Amino acid sequence: MKSFELYEPTTVQEAVGILTKFGNRAKVLAGGSDLVAGVMKDWVEGEGMPLPDALVDLTTIPQLRGIRISPQGATIGALTTLTEIIESKDLKERFPLLTQATHSIASPLIRNYATLGGNLNQRPRCWFLRGREFNCYKKGGDSCFSVTGDNRYHAIIGGELCYIVHPSDTATALLALDARAKLAGPAGERTVPFDNYFISPREDVLRENILKPDEILLEVFIPAPSPGTRQAWTKLKNREVYEFAVVSVAVAFTTENDTWKDGRIVLGGVAPVPYRAAVVENQLKGKNIKNSIKQAAGVIRTVARPMSMNAYKVELTQNLLERTILEALA
Ligand SMILES: Cc1cc2nc3c(=O)[nH]c(=O)nc-3n(C[C@H](O)[C@H](O)[C@H](O)COP(=O)(O)OP(=O)(O)OC[C@H]3O[C@@H](n4cnc5c(N)ncnc54)[C@H](O)[C@@H]3O)c2cc1C
Ligand code: SF4
Repeated sequence: MKSFELYEPTTVQEAVGILTKFGNRAKVLAGGSDLVAGVMKDWVEGEGMPLPDALVDLTTIPQLRGIRISPQGATIGALTTLTEIIESKDLKERFPLLTQATHSIASPLIRNYATLGGNLNQRPRCWFLRGREFNCYKKGGDSCFSVTGDNRYHAIIGGELCYIVHPSDTATALLALDARAKLAGPAGERTVPFDNYFISPREDVLRENILKPDEILLEVFIPAPSPGTRQAWTKLKNREVYEFAVVSVAVAFTTENDTWKDGRIVLGGVAPVPYRAAVVENQLKGKNIKNSIKQAAGVIRTVARPMSMNAYKVELTQNLLERTILEALA
């Protein structure tokens, strides 16, 4: 592994100051399960993705940890571990969707030290990106190896230049729960809804979110759901542990006499960003869910553009949509 300087700030201001000084050459460190044990250990680098010279350890900033519940919703510090999220009775009661999604991640050992901030900001798992010998667009190169290579787990929706699927399960759940992120940088703090947090390769192929190099994710806020909100989560993976989503579905919606009133449907494992399936939501609005679910789920086909080896994901997505929404209704 390349050597680096390690900084251990105790305040957010101190951390932002160090990031500002180093610019692109520094990265923040949380649990390290992706940055150190993945990206840096495996020398995942390129012109557009330099390995850092300095790591700014956030685990030494107590302010970034913990779960706070209020009548308005829940605030979760970015350094809160995935296990702490799963074990929170308050979160389980109000946002079972987040608890289930978090529980589906990796393994108990990894969840004990991996953090929410790290999970949301982890780099994609495309096997070409993670291979040293492939200098693709995302590393600053001039091609995408997934177009002609093995693309069985790549995007079926919204790929352009790059066909990664967003790896974070908490991101899929938080987008369905209409959550927002609070960030800190040299100019102060700003709040960004997760609707606008993730960016597609079309906007910037070198990044997956709007965080600037000198910004830190401080916390996540989830608004209290309207009374009677139904939530459900399904994740299809190849084996029970250590597996990312082949396809996942997160739903949170309200009903009146089994008619869809309002809500969100979000897909994971299918697009470069957690994908809000507004096309399906629109088909359900004001309709009896049981009567219209088959047709509504089928509309996902109109936005799907599968690659040479992953058309199977379209079928899976359609079926999983139907199953998850009916589960929430039941
Ligand atoms: C075998 C294995 C299986 C996995 N399976 C899944 C899975 O099924 N689903 C899933 O969602 N994930 C999965 N993961 C990914 C894992 O959940 C992430 O590696 C982990 O959540 C990252 O958290 P961390 O605290 O260790 O982050 P780190 O590795 O420390 O950081 C990850 C990235 O986030 C940035 N970062 C961290 N915190 C902040 C912050 N507060 N502000 C700004 N940037 C920040 C870092 O700079 C870095 O770029 C798996 C990982 C492994 C190794
Ligand atoms: S899908 Fe993206 S990350 Fe993977 S090879 Fe293509 S450009 Fe690189």
